[in-house]
Amino acid sequence: MGLLDGKKGIVTGGGSGLGRANSLGLAAEGAEIAVADLRLETAQKTASDIVAAGGKAVAIQVDVSKGDEVQTLVDKAAESLGRIDLLVNCAGILPKTPLIDMSEEEWRRVMDINMTSMFFTCRAVARQIIAQGSGGKMVNFASGRGVSGMENASHYSASKGAIIAFTAAIGMELGHHGINVNAVCPGAADTPMMRSATDDASVEFLSNAPYNRRLVKPEDIVGSVLFLLTDLSKEYYGQTLFMKAT
Ligand code: NAD
Repeated sequence: MGLLDGKKGIVTGGGSGLGRANSLGLAAEGAEIAVADLRLETAQKTASDIVAAGGKAVAIQVDVSKGDEVQTLVDKAAESLGRIDLLVNCAGILPKTPLIDMSEEEWRRVMDINMTSMFFTCRAVARQIIAQGSGGKMVNFASGRGVSGMENASHYSASKGAIIAFTAAIGMELGHHGINVNAVCPGAADTPMMRSATDDASVEFLSNAPYNRRLVKPEDIVGSVLFLLTDLSKEYYGQTLFMKAT
């Protein structure tokens, strides 16, 4: 018996890092997954690894910053899986640029991919779940940097803080429809995004943090997401789980 037996879900950003780990982790608990990513080949790799492990998955290409593409993703996933019960929003980017050098284009790109994407995905999946007459669960990946800030990443910090507020708001709204929406703020976990944004000295520091003395792996984040995708958390509406901030 898996925690998510019979459930069908979409994971955005499922081709890499935390999205990949969550796709594999949810599938291992019995969920059928639509692995969605801008880079189709990475989504296909995650999906084929799920199938090789005995699970069920399809890969779907999407640019989550585009509302029409997100609607197509949700339609394709619903058709392929039969319905949708779960959404995990992991897609995101973290370019590093000082405020005084940042273009309007870069600011908008980060807000669109990290934040507006969640408006598109949560809205489309909520409509789908309500039309099905079923309940559902959604988890949005925010970041502790959305509260503490991050140097040279004002757009990223702003987008992640907005995700926390957005989740709090729709957590109440969608609760009326039997849908639990919550957010997680992973501490630094060893993914391509973290490596690209972190210098060697900081990785060394993270690897020796006094409370755990190890670099957190993407797989370590899956348990919190599973908690929020099951009825173990059925009275959580619009909450944000913070893992250790560094
Ligand atoms: P990652 O770079 O390894 O993976 C991000 C994925 O998102 C990639 O597969 C990428 O192709 C996809 N993506 C990017 N733009 C997209 C778009 N427009 N449409 C669809 N897919 C797109 O990053 P990660 O470290 O796994 O991060 C996952 C999430 O967790 C992000 O939202 C990130 O902000 C958040 N997060 C990560 C950490 C960490 O330490 N890794 C900490 C806090 C929060």
